[in-house]
Amino acid sequence: MITDKPVCVTGASGFIAAHIVRQLLEQGYRVRGTVRKSPKNYPFLLGLPGASERLELVVADLLAEGSYDLAIAGCDYVMHTASPYEINVKNPQTDLVDPAVNGTETVLESCLKSGGVKRVIFTSSIAAITDEADSNKVFTEKDWNTMSSLDRNPYHYSKTLAERDAWDFIMRKRPKFDLVAINPFMVIGPSLGPSLNTSNQIIRDIMIGSYPCLMDINWGFVDVRDVAKTHILAMETNSASGRYLCSGESMNMKTLVALLASSGFDTYALPKLDLSGKAGSILMKVLSFTQPRDTGMYIRTNIGRTMRYDNAKIKRELGISFKPIKESIIDAVNDMIQWGHLPSKKIKNK
Ligand code: NDP
Repeated sequence: MITDKPVCVTGASGFIAAHIVRQLLEQGYRVRGTVRKSPKNYPFLLGLPGASERLELVVADLLAEGSYDLAIAGCDYVMHTASPYEINVKNPQTDLVDPAVNGTETVLESCLKSGGVKRVIFTSSIAAITDEADSNKVFTEKDWNTMSSLDRNPYHYSKTLAERDAWDFIMRKRPKFDLVAINPFMVIGPSLGPSLNTSNQIIRDIMIGSYPCLMDINWGFVDVRDVAKTHILAMETNSASGRYLCSGESMNMKTLVALLASSGFDTYALPKLDLSGKAGSILMKVLSFTQPRDTGMYIRTNIGRTMRYDNAKIKRELGISFKPIKESIIDAVNDMIQWGHLPSKKIKNK
């Protein structure tokens, strides 16, 4: 263990953060997690092994200046994961950009004030690297998303602005702490809390018939337990620096559906109609206008292209090896059934 001071985890109630809290406690760390409501609302955190002795929950909000001062005081390490993760919102500026960007500034200001913080591990996203697949390119940590805006993939925009702001803060204020960014792709796997995460929801939606057909779209997947592990490795590895693209295998929708079908989930409403060819992609672009605005936008900027990326840096520098994605997908599905996000009885295809 490298510190007996608490490790601060912002947004401890979140899908990824709860796993970070669990792993930190398992490894003997003291943890100070921030949450938005009274701590009694988070029995899934308070009941974790080691929590009664070493977990403290503190209320804080990204939109309230100075809100994180108390949570960060006396910590050597801060994992800043809190940020809204939603694709379709009413007001992208107030629902996504303001909490992501102002919240990052607020958290970093609290780190500065505390005087003792050594490193901030910032949960960024592939969204800050790109918002569109490009079949002719392999994305790396050197790439920055320059395409998103309030009107185009606004969640991606919020993550890009927030990460840029964090690096800019370091340049402007030259604090004693350094910054390491983790940029995960689609994070899936079992959830410690009752909420359904936006990324697991994509798998659920595929299984309950929300996608009428197979499209030519692919994602990079990473298990939530591996993402939590990389945050801790980024804290413990002195030489860690810069950004870390964090994703295991990528998989297209057709392969994902075939994997679900062959893993015992074949009687869920998996899409059968194959529109993953060139003509299908043109049709899907047209049909994307019938989807909620930002889902439609994501489809149009990604369909018919293969997303490729290089995850060599995180494997080399943090020594992580990713879980086989089949295991994560099956764990995610079984977990969604347990939480009631998916019916346990198989449902008929439409
Ligand atoms: P969750 O929605 O599960 O967690 C988001 C966390 O942020 C929650 O704890 C939430 O609190 C908190 N939060 C949101 N708005 C505010 C606010 N105004 N003030 C304080 N806290 C707030 O999402 P994930 O765990 O998936 O995401 C965690 C981080 O990882 C985010 O930064 C996200 O962008 C990033 N990420 C996620 C990926 C994924 O596929 N899941 C991929 C790449 C990056 P509350 O519980 O009260 O709502």
